[in-house]
Amino acid sequence: METSQEHEHPQWEVVIGLEIHAQLATKSKIFSGAATAYGASPNTQACAVDLGLPGVLPVLNEEAVRMAVKFGMAIEAEIAPYSVFARKNYFYPDLPKGYQISQFELPIVGNGHMDINVDGSSKRVGITRAHLEEDAGKSLHEDFHGLTGIDLNRAGTPLLEIVSEPDMRSAKEAVAYMRKLHNLVRWIGICDGNMQEGSFRCDANVSVRPRGQQAFGTRAEIKNINSFKFVEKAINHEVDRQIQLIESGGKIVQETRLYDSVKDETRSMRSKEEANDYRYFPDPDLLPVSVSDEFKAHIKALLPELPDTRKLRFNEQYQLDTENADILTASRSLADYFETLVKESSCEAKMCANWMTGDLIAALNKANLEITESPITSQRLAGLLQRINDNTISGKIAKQVFEGMWHSTATADEIITEKGLKQITDTGAIEAVIDQIIADNSKQVEQYRDGNEKVFAFFVGQVMKAMQGKANPGEVNKILKTKLK
Ligand code: ADP
Ligand code: MG
Repeated sequence: METSQEHEHPQWEVVIGLEIHAQLATKSKIFSGAATAYGASPNTQACAVDLGLPGVLPVLNEEAVRMAVKFGMAIEAEIAPYSVFARKNYFYPDLPKGYQISQFELPIVGNGHMDINVDGSSKRVGITRAHLEEDAGKSLHEDFHGLTGIDLNRAGTPLLEIVSEPDMRSAKEAVAYMRKLHNLVRWIGICDGNMQEGSFRCDANVSVRPRGQQAFGTRAEIKNINSFKFVEKAINHEVDRQIQLIESGGKIVQETRLYDSVKDETRSMRSKEEANDYRYFPDPDLLPVSVSDEFKAHIKALLPELPDTRKLRFNEQYQLDTENADILTASRSLADYFETLVKESSCEAKMCANWMTGDLIAALNKANLEITESPITSQRLAGLLQRINDNTISGKIAKQVFEGMWHSTATADEIITEKGLKQITDTGAIEAVIDQIIADNSKQVEQYRDGNEKVFAFFVGQVMKAMQGKANPGEVNKILKTKLK
């Protein structure tokens, strides 16, 4: 679509800051014991605390704190020794208490960063803060004629709101940052990252300024974008809108806008003047959160090797190029799959990487599957690569075996035996076929001997065809060369 593109605006610089809500993967809610599992029938997972009934008291879920601290450490942030929950007061039907519990002045995570890579150059994006808060319920508009239903299952679900500095300068950079964050939260196991279910969503703050100007322009905030594609489209659209408005003599007003993915446009929701005054104040029902050095040390010991570190190690230990290292660290499961494959197959890392980034990932994408759902486990794929390595089958036949493995639970060996795909290395058998083909194609033999090297491929093709692709290609080449001399 035309509007989704990034247009050239040489006189303007784009400024973007993202606020990302990651739903923490705790079993129970942040201030109650109700379950957080997605998809239950409405209002079956909301207890008295989530409903905001009088007389109840919230109790902080320690697991949520642990996850926030884990995140803080992964982005090399400051972890506040002392943070405070506040009440953010507003009225909305999906918020029965009349306030959301959030962290305001003293968030648990402050001042970290994330390095992104766009078009070959690296850049650091500052992360201002990450704070804990509870989610609100959900309004259901579709199921009831003329009425709105309220589902409070989501009320009280723990969220980590991750606020970036206004450091991004294009929609592409914003998407790169969002993708990296998405990888990281899943990598450290604090969020399932499911964007369709709303576990990872983004508000994009966008402004433009004349190139060379220091001061930021007035920003608009685009709310609740739940896919990478839409973030890119929404930002590019908003940039065009702002520039057009300013260039035609208008002024940007600070406001909240909604992205409509069907029309591919943003629309005003409310302006700053209409914005709520939330009257934040510390929640008297909750103690401040204190994080000790021992607690931090404990969490630090639990952190896995992080994506950037692992990528560097893949570069060095396995000599992977940056592109393959990038792809194979796009998720922790992919990286684990790769390392198991190398170990189990004892094949060259480069061969393992190529099979994964080529055939395997292509097949997964086509079937819309994650690596964790792959019908071919790393152990089974290792069995296939071993048979290529020991010359039992050629690389070409291997693709056929791969196909068979994809649609069954058979091992590579079982398929090779069952379908009789074993490579023929018996030189006698190959020679016999070659003799016959040379005898049948005297014209081509003549052309080859007259110096037409291209005809060689014709002979290779004929031999392979006659032997159903099973002849050892090295042997075929060798024997053909001698016989055609
Ligand atoms: P608020 O309190 O209104 O949410 P914040 O100062 O917390 O405002 O900023 C929210 C987000 O907006 C942050 O990610 C920040 O980087 C970004 N931001 C702030 N000013 C601008 C601007 N002029 N242009 C683009 N993004 C901005
Ligand atoms: Mg904000």
